[in-house]
Amino acid sequence: MTIVEHLDRPGVKLLATGGGRCNLTNTLDTETFMHSFGKNGRFMQPALEEMSASRLRSFFADHNVPTVSPDGFHVYPLSNSAVSIQQALKQCCASLGVNLLLGTEASSLVIRDSSLAGVTTSAGELPAASVILATGGRSYPDLGATGSGYALAVQAGHTIVEPLPVLVPLFTRETWPRELSGVSLQGVHAQIDLPRLRTDGCTGDLLFTRTGVSGPVILDLSREAVPLLREHGEVPLRINLEPATSPAVWNSRFENWSSAHGRKSVFRLLDQHLPSSLARIILRIADVSEETTAAGFRRSQRDAVLERLTKLPLAVTGAGGFDNAMVTRGGIRLREVDPKTLQSRITRGLFFAGEILDLDGPCGGYNLQWAFSSGWLAGRSAAGK
Ligand SMILES: Cc1cc2nc3c(=O)[nH]c(=O)nc-3n(C[C@H](O)[C@H](O)[C@H](O)COP(=O)(O)OP(=O)(O)OC[C@H]3O[C@@H](n4cnc5c(N)ncnc54)[C@H](O)[C@@H]3O)c2cc1C
Repeated sequence: MTIVEHLDRPGVKLLATGGGRCNLTNTLDTETFMHSFGKNGRFMQPALEEMSASRLRSFFADHNVPTVSPDGFHVYPLSNSAVSIQQALKQCCASLGVNLLLGTEASSLVIRDSSLAGVTTSAGELPAASVILATGGRSYPDLGATGSGYALAVQAGHTIVEPLPVLVPLFTRETWPRELSGVSLQGVHAQIDLPRLRTDGCTGDLLFTRTGVSGPVILDLSREAVPLLREHGEVPLRINLEPATSPAVWNSRFENWSSAHGRKSVFRLLDQHLPSSLARIILRIADVSEETTAAGFRRSQRDAVLERLTKLPLAVTGAGGFDNAMVTRGGIRLREVDPKTLQSRITRGLFFAGEILDLDGPCGGYNLQWAFSSGWLAGRSAAGK
């Protein structure tokens, strides 16, 4: 078996995953896991049955890389280093006698009578009865995935669902996020608020940036926002800054401020619940002066502040590109691939694995689990053939 890799080292993207810690999977059950990938998720079932999250963890434990889940959801190597995952895979290849052709580009497929016969590479032609295309999407091209694999799939008769950069920061029409650049909030809820298209949204941590918003909750929401941006040009978001606090609880807080702390400024009181810089912005966009006292906090002002605390509006006008997209949406059309083997339904002997297929998951170990599960199934199918 030969692996053709155009970079000088194998698994370069792996080293960058999870901030260098490699969040290789998570603890979700298979149904919930597949559901998180959206309408295409069911395609993954046979691969996940072959290589489930627990099987993946056992695989690495058997290769001296025990894993842990410090928060009960994200799974990392105990070493806290992606290097141990990369090393284990390298050792696995060495012990199986895999030929690793580094610095070698796969440039086209050799197809005869609708069957695979080999691959043309920058180092010459490699005859092969089976080829697995696992060239990734177009995200972070510096880490190897340049999208060059799509051309090989097209050559074999496949259709590519337009690749889009997702798990990206979002840019906003409002300029005030710039004043909060670097401020992060935990556990906010963000949702898209287009007429007739209000999504369930996502909950997680948010980071304000010079150009808008980022952080896990926004990266996850970008999977819905990016395709909608193309259609609508601008996508309205609503952010609930404290989803665990209902409007009724906020209103009773305001009552309490007025009765117990009437002489204090609303700013100082709000400051106890939010970073000061954000409290200042909330009052500004609600058109309430920072000097307003709790006793003088009128009903109309309370309503305006409550609206910003629970449904803070932001208009998304753009999003990051492939250079900073953690994942690519789109790829090989799934109905052209047999989910039980991951073999092409068009060209015998051609198999697919990972992000090159039209599947993308949220942040949190989803995409690597899919890469591992599909790689395992495609490998076994190709070997069986
Ligand atoms: C910064 C970052 C952090 C991430 N963190 C996480 C995380 O913590 N958890 C998680 O689940 N997911 C994470 N992801 C997503 C995850 O890394 C990818 O979904 C996953 O690596 C996809 O695996 P793949 O094998 O399909 O593609 P890739 O990992 O992109 O591998 C494709 C390989 O093919 C090579 N290649 C491409 N074209 C050719 C060619 N023509 N010839 C030869 N070689 C070629 C590339 O150099 C590359 O090595 C992260 C992504 C990024 C960018």
